[in-house]
Amino acid sequence: MITLKEALTKSNEEIVALRGELEAKAKESGLNAYVGFESSGEGVPILIKDNIQVKGWSVTSASKILQGYIAPYEATAISNLKSKGMMAFGRANMDEFAMGSTTEGSYYGPTKNPHGTDRVPGGSSGGSAAAVAGGIAIAALGSDTGGSIRQPAAYCGVVGMKPTYGRVSRYGLASYASSLDQIGPITQNVEDAAILSDAIKGHDDRESTSADFEIEDIANNINPDVKLTIAVIDNYISEADEDTQKAYAQTVKALEEAGHTIVHKNMQNTKYDIATYYILATAEAATNLARFDGVRYGRRAESKSTEELFYKTRSEGFGEEVKRRILLGNFVLSSGYYDAYYVKAQKVRHLIRDEFNAIFEEADLILSPVAPSVAPKIGASEDPLEMYKSDMYTIAINLAGLPAISLPVAKNDEGMPVGLQLIAKAFNEKTLFNGAASMEKAVNYTK
Ligand code: GLN
Repeated sequence: MITLKEALTKSNEEIVALRGELEAKAKESGLNAYVGFESSGEGVPILIKDNIQVKGWSVTSASKILQGYIAPYEATAISNLKSKGMMAFGRANMDEFAMGSTTEGSYYGPTKNPHGTDRVPGGSSGGSAAAVAGGIAIAALGSDTGGSIRQPAAYCGVVGMKPTYGRVSRYGLASYASSLDQIGPITQNVEDAAILSDAIKGHDDRESTSADFEIEDIANNINPDVKLTIAVIDNYISEADEDTQKAYAQTVKALEEAGHTIVHKNMQNTKYDIATYYILATAEAATNLARFDGVRYGRRAESKSTEELFYKTRSEGFGEEVKRRILLGNFVLSSGYYDAYYVKAQKVRHLIRDEFNAIFEEADLILSPVAPSVAPKIGASEDPLEMYKSDMYTIAINLAGLPAISLPVAKNDEGMPVGLQLIAKAFNEKTLFNGAASMEKAVNYTK
């Protein structure tokens, strides 16, 4: 598949032909990465996760409850990319309302990993990652609340980037956990990720948490030769499996050989990451999803009274994982437990952020695994707690609001990709991309 950079130099005719090819190949692929082939605008086709509004398109967050809903307005990220020679093309499969780590929680059924079709592509942006990895999308947009761009990118052997909180407007993104959500790119390489993240970024008057200052373009100024100080978190790695630890050690060596300085650190609060995230994310989700009541959006259940309308619409419309999170979120927000869970988790969130900031006093970047293992088999993640645990390396970055990029570094004996992530200080995407470009060169994954 041609890269995004190459595609942006093609003639309109060539691009139109390419869109036709993509659609045909996607239908043939059997990956179930696309859940629709809508298109909007002119330019290089970018696959869009099914929770980002493109005006006039069906947008369902892979949920039954949003069947029949048509986006009445355009997400800012979409209007931004349309002004940069790109278009929205195709809706990508995902876990319902972006809650999940495998894309098995979709109303449309699971997406398959192109590196092994009995494996999940990761989640929740699994359709986006599988399509880029499978050669049926040039590049894609996903959303990352706790790892949903970086983890599927790692499982599928492609690049996924989560911008600093506030860098990309959330206007038009279906809210899961508003204080954590960010839209970001999934691409074939680091440079394409920079191009797409440049295209979607920027202040937006309609979104109160979007950064209120000028954000520079990065793609044209990436310098893989800048020498950086990269922190490795020694006490963090032991929970990853052998394949991941091996890839990690090789990458550290490659980075040293490329001239970077490695510093060794420990983090004390990592054991609280999962609990903190699942308290705050579910609390916000329960609140955000209260709007789906059968009156305002999408599908409405047959009913005889208003109460029955709410009850039946929500009971029939939400899947199991979404219901579990609404229950958990309402529990941690309830008057008896608010202080014990929600307030405490907010405090721990600050501690987690402070710990990252302390490391960034001495290092430009942090290197970390993305997931404790390669992509699991389809059907193997039935225990929700086990699935939550697989988010251990990604969620703290969202809690701290930091930018991070996941890139493939190795394959295990079964040919499954292993990804690692670099993490930077808030709004220091420039250093993030310099480090990622250098790491991409140093590990030489494609060979
Ligand atoms: N797997 C995490 C969750 O289920 C992250 C999801 C995401 O980033 N949207 O919440």
